[in-house]
Amino acid sequence: MTHHHKPASAAPRRPSRPAATDTAHAQELKRLHGWLHTARFLTTAPQLEHLPALDVPEIAFVGRSNAGKSTSINTLTQQKRLAFASKTPGRTQSINLFSLGKQGETDAVLADLPGYGYAAVPQEAKIRWQRVMANYLVTRENLKGVVLLCDPRLGLTELDEALLDVIRPRVQEGLKFLILLTKADKLTHAEAQKALSIARLQCGGGEARLFSALKKQGLDEVAQLLWQWTHEAPAAGDVEDEPEALD
Ligand code: GDP
Repeated sequence: MTHHHKPASAAPRRPSRPAATDTAHAQELKRLHGWLHTARFLTTAPQLEHLPALDVPEIAFVGRSNAGKSTSINTLTQQKRLAFASKTPGRTQSINLFSLGKQGETDAVLADLPGYGYAAVPQEAKIRWQRVMANYLVTRENLKGVVLLCDPRLGLTELDEALLDVIRPRVQEGLKFLILLTKADKLTHAEAQKALSIARLQCGGGEARLFSALKKQGLDEVAQLLWQWTHEAPAAGDVEDEPEALD
């Protein structure tokens, strides 16, 4: 008679979230990751004018070269080689678009913009590229959000700041913005928290998150954000889908 039934209250379950909700939450996350996993190559554009005009929401991934952008995109979409960093000058200039959506229906697009700041790129090409990128960020009509990948050991560099200056007015008008601090596994907890609070101050109206492709940290949160950005109802005052007559 040594067997005791454990009272239900002794179960090591967080009291705030009953089992049914846990399951629903897990299913929701599974659905989101399944959605990201549908990512497939759409097109590549060597120049801005070659980018097709699209009416589905687009999210741009930007960051200095080596920030971990390709690794993060591949990890988020659970694909090995969707995005790959080409360190070859001249091959770094293209914008790659990936479609997202189940049953072959595209409901969002990810745009992988070339990494910047790579030392071996000639100055002239750097300046040309900065202009293309600025143009893209300012003029792309279906652009809903920007994810800036940043290695927290370096923090925001001059080029990241320049990019921030370019998008700040659009962020104030509702463009979503996320600073993703990559390679978080390389930081101690204290260093990570410090980097996060600095990034939160710098992201002006946007958000900041820690991310590690290696440790699969931050994936759920980013998946949730990307879904919300591309599927939330237009904000009040957003005239998309409204009759022409309003003015
Ligand atoms: P990109 O130039 O921004 O596309 O950067 P990559 O994705 O090529 O990553 C640059 C380097 O950082 C590579 O050596 C990656 O293996 C490494 N890296 C990327 N993400 C992580 C991560 O989460 N943890 C660690 N430890 N290394 C990472």
